[in-house]
Amino acid sequence: MPAGAPRIPLRGEIAREELPFKGSRTEMVYMTPEEKMAEVLRLAEEALLQGELPIAAIIFHGDRVVSRAFTSEKHDGRFLVHAEMKALQEMDREKNSMKERREMQLFTNLEPCMMCFGAAVHSFVGSVFYALGSPTDGAAKWVVDRWTEDHVDSVFSLPEVFGGLLSAGSRALFERYLAANPSGGLADWVRTLV
Ligand SMILES: [Zn+2]
Repeated sequence: MPAGAPRIPLRGEIAREELPFKGSRTEMVYMTPEEKMAEVLRLAEEALLQGELPIAAIIFHGDRVVSRAFTSEKHDGRFLVHAEMKALQEMDREKNSMKERREMQLFTNLEPCMMCFGAAVHSFVGSVFYALGSPTDGAAKWVVDRWTEDHVDSVFSLPEVFGGLLSAGSRALFERYLAANPSGGLADWVRTLV
């Protein structure tokens, strides 16, 4: 991360006691957030190996994988096929109850952009976990900092946001992308991440 970039996490270091599904709420054994993010990093590496940016997202409900996707902008030649958008669209097709949606956790290895964070809010997911902050286009910190009391009466509410989980692993993937793609349109942006 370049000097002067905002230091994420937003709510302190990831601490188990702060996470949803704690205590005796359920008898199920949940994967740890680190284990879930490690799955995301494996999927992001798959994207990298296919020539895409190494960005992936998985939505969990407890331990169940609701949806998983990686960005396919290069392959599809489209701009709205971000990993989080694809995962959220697939989740939305399940038509889960509001209670279930609030229990959903969106994991992504890069701070969501404005489009994807907005889609997360509109999908009513309860929490967003990301690995690496994106100083130039990440929206999670921007929104958290600006969510005001004016929003209280809105049907929407701010998901819980946890940043910085396994960020080194995510950064390493972007460094690999840069090594393979040292120039070109996206290289300058990727340099802001590493
Ligand atoms: Zn996005």
